Amino acid sequence: MGYQSIMNSQGVILWLTGLSGAGKTTIAKGVAQELLTRNWRVELLDGDVVRSNLSQGLGFSKEDRDTNIRRIGFVANLLSRNGVVAIVAAITPYRSIRDELRRTTTNFVEVYVQASLAVCESRDVKGLYVQARAGKIKNFTGISDPYEEPLNPEITCMTEKFTIEQCVSQVVNYLHRQEYIVI
Ligand code: ADP
Repeated sequence: MGYQSIMNSQGVILWLTGLSGAGKTTIAKGVAQELLTRNWRVELLDGDVVRSNLSQGLGFSKEDRDTNIRRIGFVANLLSRNGVVAIVAAITPYRSIRDELRRTTTNFVEVYVQASLAVCESRDVKGLYVQARAGKIKNFTGISDPYEEPLNPEITCMTEKFTIEQCVSQVVNYLHRQEYIVI
């Protein structure tokens, strides 16, 4: 029996913010995997996936981005209040909406997944930076749209300096230290 089944877990929202290619999805999947093997209930909400269902049709204006984030926040809150570890991987470039999430949800943990634009661009995981530089994608965060760095995140994962495994451990250890999970 996993610990969670014998404990009344409070749930938590783990919100990963950062530039495209910084490592949000990679770390989110790693953390989810780690917690699942320890029998925690976990759900992963990935910005790219959400945009093809819950937020289908929304664009990348500030208004549409905020709508997208509010929807994800609403779902994440439903999950976390039912004891689930809700992990969100979404750029979430605006400070105001991140602050709103913090105010309107419970157990909100902001994780800044940090890498320089140059490194994200050189990784170009999805080939989007090349297209953005060529002007084929408008409103691309970091190139033609702002990214407002978190001022006071609970966790900063520096993905240029540390390995994926180290970043995943950093997040899991934080959850443990704050007693969101029992290892
Ligand atoms: P995002 O979801 O932020 O757009 P991805 O997770 O899709 O970013 O891509 C990040 C890329 O960076 C992957 O190719 C991953 O292997 C690489 N990477 C290198 N070091 C790290 C690290 N410490 N944490 C996360 N990703 C890393």
